[in-house]
Amino acid sequence: MGRVLIIGAGGVGQVVAFKCAKLPEVFSEICLASRTVEKCRNIAAKLPRKIQTAQVDADNVPELVALIKKFKPDLIINVALPYQDLHIMDACLETGVDYLDTANYEPRDEARFCYQWQWDYHERFKERGIMALLGSGFDPGVTNVFCAWAQKKHFDRIQEIDIIDCNAGDHGHPFATNFNPEINIREVTAKGRYYEDGKWIETEPLSISKMYDFPEGIGPRKIYLLYHEELESLARHIKGVHRARFWMTFSDNYLKHLEVLQNVGMTRIDPVVYNGQEIIPLQFLKSLLPDPASLGPVTKGRTCIGCLIKGIRNNREKQYYIYNICDHESCYKEVQSQAVSYTTGVPAMIGALLMLTRKWRGNGVFNMEEFDPEPFMNELNRHGLPWTEITF
Ligand code: NDP
Repeated sequence: MGRVLIIGAGGVGQVVAFKCAKLPEVFSEICLASRTVEKCRNIAAKLPRKIQTAQVDADNVPELVALIKKFKPDLIINVALPYQDLHIMDACLETGVDYLDTANYEPRDEARFCYQWQWDYHERFKERGIMALLGSGFDPGVTNVFCAWAQKKHFDRIQEIDIIDCNAGDHGHPFATNFNPEINIREVTAKGRYYEDGKWIETEPLSISKMYDFPEGIGPRKIYLLYHEELESLARHIKGVHRARFWMTFSDNYLKHLEVLQNVGMTRIDPVVYNGQEIIPLQFLKSLLPDPASLGPVTKGRTCIGCLIKGIRNNREKQYYIYNICDHESCYKEVQSQAVSYTTGVPAMIGALLMLTRKWRGNGVFNMEEFDPEPFMNELNRHGLPWTEITF
């Protein structure tokens, strides 16, 4: 039915490739392209059917355009890094191809989440008659769809949203990140921020925390307030919400290492001169840390990501919690990746499926909560990310 070009052969790219390959009736032809073509070939060799592979530097628009003209995709799934988003969107505009990603654009020299750069493409995508779906991972992604679902099915008015992300897994390494280390560390060391009564309130990094009791035996864990990109789009699209926050768990071990790395300057993203050569300390650190894709065979335990929502239903106050639990070892058995890559890659495939089957369609640039959540929620249950809801 559709030709899909997946860009980025990392932990997430592997899951997207596996999941798309399992659905030939939707993804009739697949090409996996990345900066290092060997990584694409390694992934292709593990898949249940034959796909194409290609080398591409996604920061180079003419190179991208040449690949697009050669493969002729209907849709590009961008699971490279956030730095590539605008270049790939430019190539989509030039060639008239739909676009999907899982993380909003970030400039390399500034760790700052902001959708405005990509929202600014809306008119151009609209005029070109193509669609961009932003943030089709888990958070952002499924969390946005959970909020749209709560709004559609459970509330007359949503007042408060707390997105809570717990990785209760253990990979056995003293320090490793479950997705790209550079992106992960930029996110965690940035200032916290949340939305309240029409304003954004900034907090010092990891300065607000509390205990949260996770369901299904995961139990109490400390959660830390972070800024996360879906807060920006939810504050804009969920009408009437007066507070939106994002929380994440971190082990004491992770925080201890991070503090030391920060204190010695290893998380800096500005260039420093070493032996006459400019290096970015965080990029150097990334080259020393375990590749997230290598954590699959060694990670045990579960993730639990969900939304705790408060609001009004039939003139009464209501509290509602919706979540998914995902087991690292089961993910590895299915697609040879751990649950953080899995929970990102499956929603990317589902977003692509809904675009290609035209269940989600529009010309312009869209966030997940702008579409009917129902088909997405059904596909989550079908493709390995079942959800549970509780009303208090
Ligand atoms: P990885 O670092 O494992 O993989 C990224 C891949 O992109 C690598 O194969 C890399 O190639 C490739 N790449 C980087 N730069 C370029 C370029 N210029 N041209 C072509 N390919 C390039 O990252 P993950 O798989 O862990 O993460 C992928 C994306 O998913 C990230 O944007 C991340 O922020 C996002 N994410 C979203 C989540 C969500 O829930 N929404 C959660 C987790 C991640 P090479 O190997 O050659 O460097």
